[in-house]
Amino acid sequence: MKKVSKIYIYTKGDERSEYTASLLVAKLEGAGICVLPEYDDDADMIICVGGDGTFLRMLVNCGYPQVPVAGVNTGHLGFFQEFMPEDLDELVRVCLTGDCSIQKNRLLEATVWADGPVPQNYYALNDFVIRSSKGSTVHLNLTIGSSFIERFSGDGILISTPAGSTAYNYSLGGSIVDPRVNMIQLTPMAPMNSRAFRSFTSSVLLPPDMEVNLFPDDDYRSNILLMIDGVEYRFEQLENVVVRYSPTEISLVRLANYDFWGKVKSKFL
Ligand code: NAP
Ligand code: MN
Repeated sequence: MKKVSKIYIYTKGDERSEYTASLLVAKLEGAGICVLPEYDDDADMIICVGGDGTFLRMLVNCGYPQVPVAGVNTGHLGFFQEFMPEDLDELVRVCLTGDCSIQKNRLLEATVWADGPVPQNYYALNDFVIRSSKGSTVHLNLTIGSSFIERFSGDGILISTPAGSTAYNYSLGGSIVDPRVNMIQLTPMAPMNSRAFRSFTSSVLLPPDMEVNLFPDDDYRSNILLMIDGVEYRFEQLENVVVRYSPTEISLVRLANYDFWGKVKSKFL
């Protein structure tokens, strides 16, 4: 990473994060680095103080920034958050020297046709969930590439990036993916398998240039909820969702000796 001179700090807003951010501001300014009061194009780095949820919200609020982003964990799990509040001196050193590794995380992009003729695009670092808004079964027609696969029946379908594979995907029985493997993972949520309904029961893994298309049966269009990185989106009539990789990548600051599997062990086992 290039040495940085102007940093924007995004915080969760709770007492612990605000306190940690105030210590960080003092240390950065003491080292001659300018801390911006608001995020703008001048920033050459963003530091996010909070948990993974805060990190995901920061990405939305800063418009999926292209500058390196580093996290300080004042939340619960903090899989994205490489630094602990006691590591602030190390973080300042990284800003001054640029000595770190940058983990590139590509975003998923969903084009959603709902409530009108103009589709909207949404982005996710972790995952998209397409599910029933009412707790009832959904029937979703699934096409992968140009092949119609099935009429899925169950709670819904989760589509995750490698970065999101350790989040909801993992709770649903999906596989943890090393971020160096570039792929899309589709994980069924409570798939139904009976004489009435047939749905695939395990995750499926797709190459990164594949497109996935999901559309509900006509009767279910008003019952669909989208969850995008954990945030709910509701629609009157959801017609069609196409998910693919976006060209946009997030550059996450990791320590120079970052080891994904060491992180998995320390956070999950
Ligand atoms: P949340 O309900 O607080 O998130 C659930 C947990 O997932 C938190 O402990 C969060 O870490 C952790 N997490 C988030 N991204 C992760 C990642 N990439 N790898 C490992 N753990 C991760 O909601 P949130 O904090 O706003 O996070 C949104 C994410 O929650 C969604 O993208 C979805 O994947 C996940 N989620 C999980 C479940 C489930 O497991 N049953 C249900 C709904 C949503 P922090 O504690 O540091 O925030
Ligand atoms: Mn959270």
